[in-house]
Amino acid sequence: MNKLLLWGVFTIFPLINKAQIAQPSLSYLERSFQTYDRLHKIIWSDPELGFLEVSSSGVLQKHLLESGFKVDAAVAGMPTSFIASYGSGSPVIGLLAEFDALPGLSQDTVPYRKALQQAGDGHGCGHNLLGTGAVAGAVAIKEWLDKSQHQGTIKVFGAPAEEGGGGKVYLARDGFLSGVDIMLDWHPSTRNAVDVGNGFTAVQMIDYTFHGKASHAAGSPDKGRSALDGVEAMNYMVNMLREHIPYSSRIHYVITNGGDAPNVVPELATVSYYIRHPKRDALKKIVDWVNQTAEGAALGTQTTVSKEIIAGFYEKLPNRKLAELVQKNLEIVGGITYNDRERDFAEQMVQELGGTSTILDKVSEIQPLADERASTGGGSTDVGDVSWNVPTITFGTAAFIPGSAAHSWHWTAAGGTTIGTKALINAAKVFSLTAIELYTNPELIEEAKREFEKRRGADFKYKSLVGDRAPALEYRVKK
Ligand SMILES: [Zn+2]
Ligand SMILES: [Zn+2]
Repeated sequence: MNKLLLWGVFTIFPLINKAQIAQPSLSYLERSFQTYDRLHKIIWSDPELGFLEVSSSGVLQKHLLESGFKVDAAVAGMPTSFIASYGSGSPVIGLLAEFDALPGLSQDTVPYRKALQQAGDGHGCGHNLLGTGAVAGAVAIKEWLDKSQHQGTIKVFGAPAEEGGGGKVYLARDGFLSGVDIMLDWHPSTRNAVDVGNGFTAVQMIDYTFHGKASHAAGSPDKGRSALDGVEAMNYMVNMLREHIPYSSRIHYVITNGGDAPNVVPELATVSYYIRHPKRDALKKIVDWVNQTAEGAALGTQTTVSKEIIAGFYEKLPNRKLAELVQKNLEIVGGITYNDRERDFAEQMVQELGGTSTILDKVSEIQPLADERASTGGGSTDVGDVSWNVPTITFGTAAFIPGSAAHSWHWTAAGGTTIGTKALINAAKVFSLTAIELYTNPELIEEAKREFEKRRGADFKYKSLVGDRAPALEYRVKK
């Protein structure tokens, strides 16, 4: 045997071996494509907003119960949360499941804009796939635990309201993550890649409500004090302070109540803010300044202001050991292969997006593991809070058409097709390979934990950014 051939055998052998060991899980997933295709499409067809996911959460809980899991529903003060577990003893591996939809992103499974319901809700972040993929992974891991008779526990954390309500923050704050050794997480994506934590920010979400005095806007304006003036003065000051805060900060707002009629001086007005920075210590300083603009605006408009913290997330804590482990398993599982119908859909969507079809090569490729670098801004996730409580890793599989943006009708459309199903089955395979490797090699868990402790710092103590408030169960209820 020549040297090159020998090298080939040695490098391929562990991969074959891993897949063989995981066979009970992988073959379960192969034969369960239809089951999970149906499950995620049920959730996709009935999109429910944060904390209102009664049927979506119910669908996943029912499937877990029928698969032999023990399910605790409505934990941490959230009616749509659940924790499902199977197996016994350690190691305890957790999987995160989300299932909330977004407002305004209703869309049919076609590659052009066609809302199913005008201004209706839709799964524009693919959480129908996310929750179903985690559940598929957990049941596949259970198959392996049964066949191998190996000790270990698998837990699914059904976390509501990722889009702004932050269900995971309450799971973390109220101690439901304790005892979990490693948390595995995925997010449907436009590519197959491990997230090394570069693009996420800490966020604080605050509603500011100004209180004025109502009066006839033409007959007796002198008797009124406009709450909307308070909001506008605050927004003006915030738009000026933007220039003087660190570049990687993000601040955005919407006025959720600006009064009812132009001829009534608004007595009440509310502006809803998201304030972000890659590090929560720096974020705190910016939040303090934004709070000062609210107070200054109230003073100058002779109104008063009250504020409510709606949610707050930590930035993500990376874990290189887990990233390397998941990267290898993602490479074993491989990318997505379109059938003719899916390719046709994808090519039409690429055209709609103004791209070229070569971009579709991305879905069959696995991105190399990126280097870690300082975040320069971007979105936030309540997985951040989890990652400071348990060593956590997130990866993505190509559920959406490359070139399309998160929170768009493009994502709703692709996420309701079999492209999404393929992506969630791949994710479930990666979960299986990774969990089995962790169960059978506890030293990997110890290494990940050592890195985790080092990154958090010896004197770290988790303190959530929501204080002691109860979950904002009505943040998406239209008033
Ligand atoms: Zn999202
Ligand atoms: Zn999402």
